[in-house]
Amino acid sequence: MAEILVLVDHTDGVVRKPTLELLTLARRLGEPSAVFLGSGADSATEALGRYGAHKVYVVDAPEVDELLVTPAVDALTQIAGSTGPAAILLPSNPDSKETAARLALRLESGLITDAVDVVAGDDGPVTEQSAFAATYQVTAHVTRGIPVITVKPNAAAPEPAPVTPEVEKWDVTFGPASAAVKVLSRSPRERGERPELTEADIVVSGGRGVNGAENFAVIERVADTLGAAVGASRAAVDAGWYPHSHQVGQTGTQVSPQLYLAAGISGAIQHRAGMQTSKTIVAVNKDQDAPIFELADYGVVGDLFQVLPQLVEEIERRRS
Ligand SMILES: Cc1cc2nc3c(=O)[nH]c(=O)nc-3n(C[C@H](O)[C@H](O)[C@H](O)COP(=O)(O)OP(=O)(O)OC[C@H]3O[C@@H](n4cnc5c(N)ncnc54)[C@H](O)[C@@H]3O)c2cc1C
Repeated sequence: MAEILVLVDHTDGVVRKPTLELLTLARRLGEPSAVFLGSGADSATEALGRYGAHKVYVVDAPEVDELLVTPAVDALTQIAGSTGPAAILLPSNPDSKETAARLALRLESGLITDAVDVVAGDDGPVTEQSAFAATYQVTAHVTRGIPVITVKPNAAAPEPAPVTPEVEKWDVTFGPASAAVKVLSRSPRERGERPELTEADIVVSGGRGVNGAENFAVIERVADTLGAAVGASRAAVDAGWYPHSHQVGQTGTQVSPQLYLAAGISGAIQHRAGMQTSKTIVAVNKDQDAPIFELADYGVVGDLFQVLPQLVEEIERRRS
């Protein structure tokens, strides 16, 4: 069966959910092999095997942590050059997208970024992408070389398919370009209890209608009831009501959760560009003509300060 390489996204060996999604998608195309860069492979191997990785290629070299992006390109180029996979899947995060672009160039391959679905086709993987603020759905396949594809988080639900992976250690030769930039220090970003915005299954976002930083507690309350991440419109973050890192949209984070709840957000094109591929969209807005209702699957015309507390109450009532 054709081998499909999957680049593992991990933190010190803890595999992140988008990788499990990639392994699930890779099984549609062939036999997944994981490429693990850095330290912590021992603890990651079990998780990778649980989601169907038949092989785990491990590159545990100091360069991977000390240098930026290019060691990953060197590693993937050399592994792909030797194993000849049918496709290479990477998560759609900024580092991996840069890696994918450089990798495709070196392999003289076609590149597809930000796929929201991948299926097997007669001539290799066929992807779906959402373009122009999700007003177009693009179906594409690579016509040259080994397809290099980055896939957005939440493109598939991770499905276990346990195997015992064969672990193969790789000695990669790092080129001179790899040493051009050196990482001097790293400090972990402070993380709260809530899931990461890009990976969350549910995102609850507030906009200008929230009308003040202190009122974001209403949005957070809904998010915590649903185990969701908190998002915000640019109007809300520009007003200083919520941190910029939570901005959803064209110039913020692009999210594609199972459920997106927009409260007090009008639905400007720049906001839609960051959330329109969400599977189910619910909008709460007191203006029945707000553009957000054009794309919402469910809409509530009402004051968010009345609707959201009732929603929380009802969820809690049904749970108890
Ligand atoms: C180059 C560029 C890039 C941009 N990038 C982004 C981006 O990444 N993300 C983004 O979000 N925007 C972005 N914008 C800004 C965007 O154009 C809009 O200005 C912004 O999205 C509006 O935010 P909003 O919907 O919260 O506010 P508004 O458009 O002011 O809408 C507020 C909504 O809240 C409703 N409302 C008010 N009170 C209540 C209440 N009590 N209960 C219920 N509903 C209520 C109102 O009816 C209204 O529909 C960008 C703009 C430009 C020019």
